[in-house]
Amino acid sequence: MNEMKKVALVTGSGKGIGRAVAIELARRGVAVAINYSRSEDAARETAEMIRSEGGVCGLFRADVSNSLEVHGLFEAIRDSLGPVSILVNNAGITRDALLMRMKDEDWRHVLSLNLEGAFLCSREGLRDMTRARWGRIVNISSVVGIIGNPGQANYCASKAGLLGLTKSIAREYGMRGITANAVAPGWIETDMTAVLKPEIREAMLKSVPAGRPGRPEDVAAVVAFLASEEASYVNGQTIAVDGGMTMV
Ligand code: NAP
Repeated sequence: MNEMKKVALVTGSGKGIGRAVAIELARRGVAVAINYSRSEDAARETAEMIRSEGGVCGLFRADVSNSLEVHGLFEAIRDSLGPVSILVNNAGITRDALLMRMKDEDWRHVLSLNLEGAFLCSREGLRDMTRARWGRIVNISSVVGIIGNPGQANYCASKAGLLGLTKSIAREYGMRGITANAVAPGWIETDMTAVLKPEIREAMLKSVPAGRPGRPEDVAAVVAFLASEEASYVNGQTIAVDGGMTMV
């Protein structure tokens, strides 16, 4: 452990966008807490990738929608790496269905992880950040939280909710050296989008001026900037990383 390093928690960083963010932050000299809930092997792989490049990281299992587990997660990170000063709320799931067919549990499950999980982690992380008078919170929202999407009312509501959470944190803690921003990815190639049917992929590709799906690294670069010292005057913003799909 290096006492001088800033410590970042990236929730759900065993794979996908979270993994790319963890790797990018570690490359920039941050000690990274890799969090996973089910994908332990993938999380270990992420840790090996970081360590093979000389980076510092630790592995932490926790369900970030569970308040007690979140409390324990921050304690465990504090004990092994140090207090968290960069929090990337990345963990997220989809449970798609047309609204009239959407089950209560699908609505609650998505809101409870995607939105409440970010609230629980932010509340816990802000304790250390306010003490240090420095902090960065980056919430991974989605372009569909801005423009909506049929079949994803629960997911879109959770991602739109993250934008309100982000702006409220930005207003509440801006005076204390803490910023909160959101990144809204478009279509990024990960396990989450691998399940989409080829015809949906084709249709989506037509709406992306960049003419290609995004890579987790495209998102990671923006998150790393927002987590940096250089971004200290960027607060409460939503940055779309979508190849020009929305241009909001
Ligand atoms: P992914 O590969 O499916 O990764 C989702 C991550 O969330 C996994 O690491 C998973 O870890 C974690 N997770 C799920 N439940 C969790 C829980 N209860 N506690 C802690 N971690 C949990 O998907 P992704 O595409 O990288 O998505 C990452 C974020 O980007 C999500 O918030 C997603 O909504 C957002 N996003 C993605 C896209 C896209 O096109 N891919 C677009 C816009 C926004 P475990 O497997 O260990 O549970």
